[in-house]
Amino acid sequence: SYTGRSTCHVLAKRRIRLPKLGSIRTSKTNQLNSGRIKRYTVSLEPTGRYYLSLQVEVEAPQALPKTGRMVGLDVGVADLVISSDGVKYGTFHAPWAEKQATKWQSKYAKRKHQVTITVRQWNHNHKTVKEELNDYQNWQRAQQQKARYQAKIANQRKDYLHKLTTALVKQYDVIVIEDLKAKNLQKNHCLAKAIANASWFQFRTMLAYKCAWYGKKLITVKPNYTSQICSHCGYHSGPKPLNIREWTCPKCGTYHDRDINAAVNILHKGLKAVG
Ligand SMILES: [Zn+2]
Repeated sequence: SYTGRSTCHVLAKRRIRLPKLGSIRTSKTNQLNSGRIKRYTVSLEPTGRYYLSLQVEVEAPQALPKTGRMVGLDVGVADLVISSDGVKYGTFHAPWAEKQATKWQSKYAKRKHQVTITVRQWNHNHKTVKEELNDYQNWQRAQQQKARYQAKIANQRKDYLHKLTTALVKQYDVIVIEDLKAKNLQKNHCLAKAIANASWFQFRTMLAYKCAWYGKKLITVKPNYTSQICSHCGYHSGPKPLNIREWTCPKCGTYHDRDINAAVNILHKGLKAVG
């Protein structure tokens, strides 16, 4: 990849002019007309495709209208985000693309093995160069296919998170979330949890800058005891194993959904923090 200070110009709809490369076809030129291109980067991705990234200077976006609403958000694995209003936003899944990615991943591993064996055989028996090249090209193709499906999943997940965070910022003036470091950034060997962590991190980053852009407030609170306290009466009934999804408060008898109760507690903490 290479980067340069920009002398890029939008030539026409879907056409941009780059130094060295000249005029190329691209998308999203509409969004570039209102900004000034400062830097550009051209890179070759593992998918075998070239990407152009532009750093663009634009006017700060206008603040969104105030709604007078406040929300607490908890994170989960089955559901990505649970709101104190009782709404559960599911974790993003792309079953078909995920299956394809796994399939090409195993082909990639198998072919890599084949290539190594062929090279070894060739050294011993002078196996034809043509066969070796074939194996090598098949392996490379598997690598690209794998990368393409992985990129597809990542892009779709990003798109899903963009839509979700924009919807939340539009809906609420104040958003309270738990401190990420303490609870969610532990190294995790469970794949589902590792993916949930990555999504949550991305979600939080988007939420933070969108709140700043659109004149909304993001509050971070400590995650202590949010899943143990009754959000109705404040009774502390001790830790609960993760498989307990619902419980009844022994003091006031309120029936709780574990995640929604935690989200309400997070909201309460946030309210206390702002006073
Ligand atoms: Zn209670």
